[in-house]
Amino acid sequence: METTTAPLAELDREGLAALVEDLRQRGFTVIGPTVRGDAIVLAELASAQELPYGWGVETEAGRYRLRRREDGAAFAHSAGPQSWKTFLHPPRARLWQADRSEDGTVTVREDDEPPPRYAFLGVRPCDLRAIAVQDRVLTGGAHVDPVYGRRRSGAFLVVAECTEPGGVCFCASMGTGPGLPPGAPPYDLALTETVEPDGPHYVVRAGSPEGEEVLAGLPTRPTDGERARAAVAEAAGRMGREMDATDLRSLMAGTMTAERWDQVANRCLTCGNCTMVCPTCFCTTTEEVTDLTGDHAERWRRWDSCFDLDFSYLHGTGPVRSSARSRYRQWLTHKVGTWHDQFGESGCVGCGRCIAWCPVGIDITEEVAALRAESAPPEGAP
Ligand code: SF4
Ligand code: SF4
Repeated sequence: METTTAPLAELDREGLAALVEDLRQRGFTVIGPTVRGDAIVLAELASAQELPYGWGVETEAGRYRLRRREDGAAFAHSAGPQSWKTFLHPPRARLWQADRSEDGTVTVREDDEPPPRYAFLGVRPCDLRAIAVQDRVLTGGAHVDPVYGRRRSGAFLVVAECTEPGGVCFCASMGTGPGLPPGAPPYDLALTETVEPDGPHYVVRAGSPEGEEVLAGLPTRPTDGERARAAVAEAAGRMGREMDATDLRSLMAGTMTAERWDQVANRCLTCGNCTMVCPTCFCTTTEEVTDLTGDHAERWRRWDSCFDLDFSYLHGTGPVRSSARSRYRQWLTHKVGTWHDQFGESGCVGCGRCIAWCPVGIDITEEVAALRAESAPPEGAP
């Protein structure tokens, strides 16, 4: 938690239910964590009852399992397979459709329907940073992505600080969590969950005027916030992973011929899972589809991956990154290296999703450590 001298307030479980109801009354589509099948996913919540009270997760390289918790906490679980980009930068989006009439006239209609106004409940600090990264990529330049821009504008963000890091988490190394760090990206409300004898409580503070307005209507009571602060500080010391993030840009620039790429390429299936689950990966491709008559055509955009062979296809040459070695190297050196040149910060926020959801358990922290070790001057070298 940030240090603050402002009086703190807290909600109990009924207060959290009132928050969800209030946001729905204001017209928001509330998205938050909920149990579906064997995972905690992000989906629309009809009420706070659907939050994953009493569920946690166990994560390791190539492994994600739900587990029951005794304490009834709703946010004591680490990242699941989705991130908020599923809603802000959807996997598939129709960009336009065209129809040819009988006289041969073609009418093109852009798909610019207003999307739902989202309220995201339970945004982890690492994912708040990831949203800010995608904001910069997709709306920060001269060409604003209209699909992302429409969904992002007006979104109401309720952060849930982490008190239960997972086995693959390393946000503390990347300076993005587990609490909101100084200079955190904008948010509307921030919650910190503690479990008390009468159930979960949520220290809550506002980060925007709209957040203040919502908070003013909730059934809060005063708190000193001490237990919440201690829980977040303790979580920082229990990260499942760590990554030495010192000057990754230079490190990556010097690894083009490293032997480590061959070792990781022997295991990598080039399936692209890591790019699909990563909250900052943003690449897309487009495709046109027509009906059988040829009178109706649509252009769709869908997520693409630098692990896909066609991703680097050049006319007359073919894929310029045809090996697993070159594709994994492209992904990692961009993510934590040249991302700095392009966007002024790292593309990795330390959420650990790519580790948990890699089918062969390739671990970005292990790969970076191995590349650092390979790049280090031999012992005793001047
Ligand atoms: S690193 Fe893992 S998740 Fe990523 S492409 Fe290779 S096998 Fe798939
Ligand atoms: S590279 Fe992996 S750990 Fe880093 S933000 Fe992407 S999914 Fe999370």
